[in-house]
Amino acid sequence: MSHQHTSQRSLFESGPQWAEDDARQGIIATVVLPDGIEKPLDYLVPAALAGAVEPGKRVIVPLGRGNRERLAYCVAVRSGELPQTPLKSVVGVEDESPLLSRRMLDLTKWMADRWMARWGEVLEAVLPAGVRFRRKRRAVPLLVATGTEPARKPTPAQAKVLAAAATPVTADALTEATGASRAVIMRLVKVGLLCEAGSATRPHGRPPADAVGRPPISHDRPAELAPAQTAALEAILEPLRGGRHETVVLFGVTGSGKTEVYLQAVEETLSYGKQAIVLVPEISLTPQTCDRFRARFGSVAVLHSHLTPAERHAQWREIAAGQVGVVVGARSAIFAPTPRLGLIVIDEEHETTFKQATAPRYHARDVAEWIARAEGVPLVLGSATPALETFQRCLRGEWRMCRLPGRVGGSQLPPVLSVDLRDPASRSRGAVTPRLAAGIRWALDAGGQVMLLLNRRGFATAVQCRACGHTMRCPQCDIAFTLHQPGSRGICHGCGLVTRLPSSCPSCSAPNLVPRGTGTQRLEDQIRASFPGTRVARMDTDTMRSRGSHERTLDAFRNREIDILVGTQMIAKGLDFPAVMLVGVVNADASLHLADFRASERTCQLVTQVGGRSGRGPLGGRVVVQTSTPEHPAIRAAAAHDYEAFVRSELPIREALLYPPFGSIVRFVVRSIDEQAAANWAGTIVDRLRKEVAAMPHDSDKIRVLGPAPAPIARLRDRFRWHAQLHGPDGGQLRDLVRRATATLQTPDNVAWIIDVDPVEML
Ligand code: ADP
Ligand code: ZN
Repeated sequence: MSHQHTSQRSLFESGPQWAEDDARQGIIATVVLPDGIEKPLDYLVPAALAGAVEPGKRVIVPLGRGNRERLAYCVAVRSGELPQTPLKSVVGVEDESPLLSRRMLDLTKWMADRWMARWGEVLEAVLPAGVRFRRKRRAVPLLVATGTEPARKPTPAQAKVLAAAATPVTADALTEATGASRAVIMRLVKVGLLCEAGSATRPHGRPPADAVGRPPISHDRPAELAPAQTAALEAILEPLRGGRHETVVLFGVTGSGKTEVYLQAVEETLSYGKQAIVLVPEISLTPQTCDRFRARFGSVAVLHSHLTPAERHAQWREIAAGQVGVVVGARSAIFAPTPRLGLIVIDEEHETTFKQATAPRYHARDVAEWIARAEGVPLVLGSATPALETFQRCLRGEWRMCRLPGRVGGSQLPPVLSVDLRDPASRSRGAVTPRLAAGIRWALDAGGQVMLLLNRRGFATAVQCRACGHTMRCPQCDIAFTLHQPGSRGICHGCGLVTRLPSSCPSCSAPNLVPRGTGTQRLEDQIRASFPGTRVARMDTDTMRSRGSHERTLDAFRNREIDILVGTQMIAKGLDFPAVMLVGVVNADASLHLADFRASERTCQLVTQVGGRSGRGPLGGRVVVQTSTPEHPAIRAAAAHDYEAFVRSELPIREALLYPPFGSIVRFVVRSIDEQAAANWAGTIVDRLRKEVAAMPHDSDKIRVLGPAPAPIARLRDRFRWHAQLHGPDGGQLRDLVRRATATLQTPDNVAWIIDVDPVEML
């Protein structure tokens, strides 16, 4: 990714006189292709395009022996001496104004290095598709005089045309203005005295919404902040007023008033005529947060995932024009082109959705920190359960932590009861133990509502033969079919394959296939059967497929049209329903034993978060956690509302193993239809890594290469998956090592592989 100029001459090298004479001055554009060649390339900017080629615009360049025209991002323009080897010329400019600011170009370059992605791929990722659309061109191009010295004296007709084409003009306009024939113009194009310059059509611009300068409208703004809120707000306002960067972490239990602090910090930001970006884990799962920003402020752009490319483009332009005060959105909203950024907020900063799962595999928290630092603005990270990475930065004194230990309005955190599933007294026919059932009954009798979390969708997690033990598995994946009702469908949660499950075992023919394990569908059935007359609804990706279904279900729950809401982790986030008196975690262990070093952190976060939904109103509430390992620190801490206790127990473990936040990880995942090919290629990567480690002058003992091994999900969509990992204390050092190790690798045709720097997904 480093940018090398092919013909850089040393200052002290005195070339022969004729070379000096020959040296020509010119303008050179450095461009990055969105795909294909990774290295930035230099092109000559012809005089006709001199003003038009700018960093941040896309340009059209000829590539390869065939000079195929490609769209590329111009990342730098410089004037100076041209190299000895002739450069090809930029042939057109796509954009009228830059799509990317200097700062965005710097950011994307940094991202490419930080997450080992191609620069071009990062550039594509930060621009919404609607913005990247190629403008529609009419068949008539604009022509412009190239300014090249003609080999022969031009005819008077030709001279007239060249003079008229000093600035870009259509061929039609040229004939009209000069009376020259079409043939004269074509001839000039052929000999290189005229060339195409950009397009004659302009994209249709939508007039921007009238959103600027509207005063903030207050709705639920409380008269007074709690003392902890005031302290947190001051911690944000201080750098905000001083125009300097600082990262402030709001570590506050659910309901402690973090969102109110964000709102007032944003209010102050707007009062200075600045803009704010607020990131949430997922728009559709946080409707209440978005509503509160909309209700409080006049000009809010909510970047939904179901905007059309055209809508997205329009919003992007309004933000870029400074007409939007607040931008609320998921991960990619961090790239909103705010010209007057004043504040960045990340709510629920521990959520894994802030890391992109496809290339470029960036983490929005790190990107936000880079931007906030570059712009000199505060970054606010809020969570009831900060990521250990975040916690550690605070412990090291780099980031400032503000605690909001209690709920505002004096409501108490709900008592948590752990139910030990190993205890015979906890035996039950379904997934609901007698004690959880008693809790549900208690809440319903008191006129309250109930939320039940089970992080597995479908009816049963597997279908097994009672006679021979055979489990029905997806033919394309190393994953058991999940049973979905109605219709006894087996659905693979890896690839989505749907199959009708047979009535007898395909292995031993016994008619004894039985569902194993409970999913949300089955839980819903059990709840309906156990609590007749109550209104039950389910919220998981199966029931929430249609647009607006989240909002409908949540509205119905808020309006008390639903008594019991059963759901996956979808129900754990950002919801504030005062009538919820009982939250039940049906199986706290479901995520505890995954092959992922973050499993206990996730479990503690999930149980803490969902538990926090209970008892927000005057009636109080309880939480019941069903678990086979009540003694596990993650469960114990969540039950005690003491996330910090978990942090204290977990950090030393991470430190001993050099896991994040004490070290960095680079993960390699190799996929192939041929298992041996996948294993071999993972082996090749590991060999290269080991060689590089062995060649290190020092520190090699601190670096570990793990693997190759089959990935926890060993086959997905008919591809075998192998993985390897590189661990070490310093991320930059690891990435350099990987670059050296993989520089000359020639990937075989039948394998595909990815590099994931600081992965959050280990399956
Ligand atoms: P969090 O984001 O930490 O979950 P919120 O900001 O949503 O907390 O606050 C929880 C509830 O308390 C919300 O209904 C909010 O309107 C209310 N609230 C927040 N701050 C105050 C305050 N200072 N006085 C009264 N009510 C408040
Ligand atoms: Zn599958």
